[in-house]
Amino acid sequence: MVTEDARKIFIDYLRQNAHRITNERFLILDSALNMAGHFNADELYLKMKNDYLNVSRATVYKTLDLMSECDLLTKHNFKGERTRYETKFGRNQHYHIICVHCNRILEFEEPKIGKLQEEVCKKNELKLVDHTLQVFAECKDEKACEYKNEGKHH
Ligand SMILES: [Zn+2]
Ligand SMILES: [Zn+2]
Repeated sequence: MVTEDARKIFIDYLRQNAHRITNERFLILDSALNMAGHFNADELYLKMKNDYLNVSRATVYKTLDLMSECDLLTKHNFKGERTRYETKFGRNQHYHIICVHCNRILEFEEPKIGKLQEEVCKKNELKLVDHTLQVFAECKDEKACEYKNEGKHH
Protein backbone atom coordinates (compact mmCIF):
# COMPACT_ATOMS: atom_id res chain seq x y z
CA MET A 1 0.00 0.00 0.00
CA VAL A 2 1.15 3.47 -0.91
CA THR A 3 0.69 4.85 2.59
CA GLU A 4 2.76 2.04 4.09
CA ASP A 5 5.66 2.81 1.75
CA ALA A 6 5.40 6.48 2.56
CA ARG A 7 5.37 5.70 6.29
CA LYS A 8 8.52 3.65 5.90
CA ILE A 9 10.33 6.46 4.14
CA PHE A 10 9.19 8.85 6.86
CA ILE A 11 10.25 6.59 9.74
CA ASP A 12 13.67 6.03 8.16
CA TYR A 13 14.11 9.74 7.69
CA LEU A 14 13.09 10.58 11.25
CA ARG A 15 15.43 7.94 12.65
CA GLN A 16 18.39 9.00 10.55
CA ASN A 17 17.97 12.59 11.61
CA ALA A 18 17.23 11.91 15.26
CA HIS A 19 13.71 13.35 15.13
CA ARG A 20 11.09 12.00 17.46
CA ILE A 21 8.72 9.42 16.03
CA THR A 22 5.29 10.32 17.36
CA ASN A 23 1.75 9.26 16.67
CA GLU A 24 0.82 12.86 15.97
CA ARG A 25 3.32 12.97 13.12
CA PHE A 26 1.78 9.88 11.55
CA LEU A 27 -1.72 11.31 11.77
CA ILE A 28 -0.43 14.37 9.93
CA LEU A 29 1.41 12.24 7.37
CA ASP A 30 -1.76 10.31 6.51
CA SER A 31 -3.92 13.42 6.34
CA ALA A 32 -1.38 15.31 4.24
CA LEU A 33 -1.09 12.48 1.72
CA ASN A 34 -4.88 12.47 1.43
CA MET A 35 -5.13 16.18 0.66
CA ALA A 36 -5.94 16.88 -2.97
CA GLY A 37 -4.09 19.51 -4.95
CA HIS A 38 -1.98 22.27 -3.43
CA PHE A 39 -2.72 23.02 0.20
CA ASN A 40 -1.22 25.21 2.87
CA ALA A 41 -0.47 24.23 6.45
CA ASP A 42 -3.54 25.94 7.89
CA GLU A 43 -5.87 24.21 5.46
CA LEU A 44 -4.51 20.86 6.58
CA TYR A 45 -4.74 21.88 10.22
CA LEU A 46 -8.40 22.89 9.83
CA LYS A 47 -9.20 19.74 7.89
CA MET A 48 -7.74 17.63 10.68
CA LYS A 49 -9.66 19.58 13.30
CA ASN A 50 -12.84 18.93 11.33
CA ASP A 51 -11.98 15.25 11.30
CA TYR A 52 -11.61 15.37 15.12
CA LEU A 53 -7.89 14.71 14.89
CA ASN A 54 -6.23 16.48 17.75
CA VAL A 55 -2.90 17.91 16.65
CA SER A 56 -1.20 21.20 17.32
CA ARG A 57 -0.74 23.77 14.60
CA ALA A 58 2.99 23.93 15.30
CA THR A 59 3.34 20.19 14.81
CA VAL A 60 1.48 20.40 11.50
CA TYR A 61 3.93 23.05 10.28
CA LYS A 62 6.94 21.09 11.49
CA THR A 63 5.75 17.76 10.08
CA LEU A 64 5.02 19.24 6.65
CA ASP A 65 8.59 20.50 6.57
CA LEU A 66 9.94 17.10 7.57
CA MET A 67 7.84 15.43 4.87
CA SER A 68 9.23 17.86 2.31
CA GLU A 69 12.78 17.16 3.41
CA CYS A 70 12.36 13.46 2.68
CA ASP A 71 10.59 14.12 -0.65
CA LEU A 72 7.14 12.90 0.32
CA LEU A 73 5.83 16.39 -0.39
CA THR A 74 6.82 19.20 -2.69
CA LYS A 75 6.94 22.65 -1.20
CA HIS A 76 5.75 25.46 -3.45
CA ASN A 77 6.00 29.17 -3.19
CA PHE A 78 3.52 30.32 -5.76
CA LYS A 79 3.74 34.01 -6.53
CA GLY A 80 2.54 36.18 -3.65
CA GLU A 81 1.24 33.19 -1.76
CA ARG A 82 1.97 31.38 1.44
CA THR A 83 3.84 28.12 1.16
CA ARG A 84 1.77 25.35 -0.34
CA TYR A 85 2.43 21.64 -0.33
CA GLU A 86 1.45 18.77 -2.54
CA THR A 87 2.09 15.07 -2.55
CA LYS A 88 5.26 14.15 -4.40
CA PHE A 89 5.34 10.52 -3.40
CA GLY A 90 4.10 8.29 -6.23
CA ARG A 91 3.64 11.16 -8.64
CA ASN A 92 5.39 12.00 -11.88
CA GLN A 93 7.38 15.20 -12.16
CA HIS A 94 4.96 17.88 -13.26
CA TYR A 95 4.88 21.62 -13.74
CA HIS A 96 2.47 24.43 -12.99
CA ILE A 97 0.80 27.11 -15.06
CA ILE A 98 -0.73 29.83 -12.92
CA CYS A 99 -3.35 32.24 -14.20
CA VAL A 100 -2.34 35.73 -13.04
CA HIS A 101 -5.98 36.83 -12.94
CA CYS A 102 -7.70 34.07 -11.08
CA ASN A 103 -4.75 32.19 -9.57
CA ARG A 104 -6.00 28.96 -11.07
CA ILE A 105 -3.22 26.38 -11.15
CA LEU A 106 -3.00 23.93 -14.03
CA GLU A 107 -0.62 21.01 -13.98
CA PHE A 108 1.19 19.52 -16.92
CA GLU A 109 3.84 16.91 -17.57
CA GLU A 110 6.54 17.42 -20.17
CA PRO A 111 9.59 15.10 -20.02
CA LYS A 112 11.42 17.28 -22.56
CA ILE A 113 11.80 20.00 -19.92
CA GLY A 114 13.66 17.67 -17.57
CA LYS A 115 15.90 16.36 -20.35
CA LEU A 116 16.80 19.85 -21.46
CA GLN A 117 17.90 20.79 -17.97
CA GLU A 118 19.94 17.63 -17.63
CA GLU A 119 21.75 18.60 -20.81
CA VAL A 120 22.43 22.11 -19.55
CA CYS A 121 23.79 20.74 -16.27
CA LYS A 122 25.95 18.21 -18.08
CA LYS A 123 27.41 20.88 -20.31
CA ASN A 124 28.44 22.73 -17.17
CA GLU A 125 29.74 19.58 -15.53
CA LEU A 126 27.00 19.55 -12.95
CA LYS A 127 24.58 16.88 -11.91
CA LEU A 128 20.90 17.83 -11.85
CA VAL A 129 19.38 17.42 -8.40
CA ASP A 130 15.91 18.85 -8.79
CA HIS A 131 14.00 21.47 -10.68
CA THR A 132 10.68 23.30 -10.60
CA LEU A 133 8.87 25.35 -13.17
CA GLN A 134 6.13 27.90 -12.74
CA VAL A 135 4.60 29.43 -15.82
CA PHE A 136 2.49 32.55 -15.43
CA ALA A 137 -0.26 33.11 -17.94
CA GLU A 138 -3.48 35.01 -18.53
CA CYS A 139 -6.83 33.55 -19.38
CA LYS A 140 -8.13 34.66 -22.76
CA ASP A 141 -10.89 36.77 -21.33
CA GLU A 142 -10.20 38.01 -17.83
CA LYS A 143 -13.80 39.08 -17.14
CA ALA A 144 -15.24 35.82 -18.30
CA CYS A 145 -12.74 33.72 -16.41
CA GLU A 146 -14.94 31.16 -14.74
CA TYR A 147 -12.47 30.66 -11.93
CA LYS A 148 -12.01 34.31 -11.10
CA ASN A 149 -14.31 34.49 -8.11
CA GLU A 150 -13.60 31.11 -6.74
CA GLY A 151 -10.53 32.34 -4.88
CA LYS A 152 -9.38 28.78 -4.54
CA HIS A 153 -6.53 26.65 -5.73
CA HIS A 154 -6.73 23.22 -7.20
ZN1 LIG B 1 -8.04 32.93 -15.07
ZN1 LIG C 1 0.98 20.33 -8.64
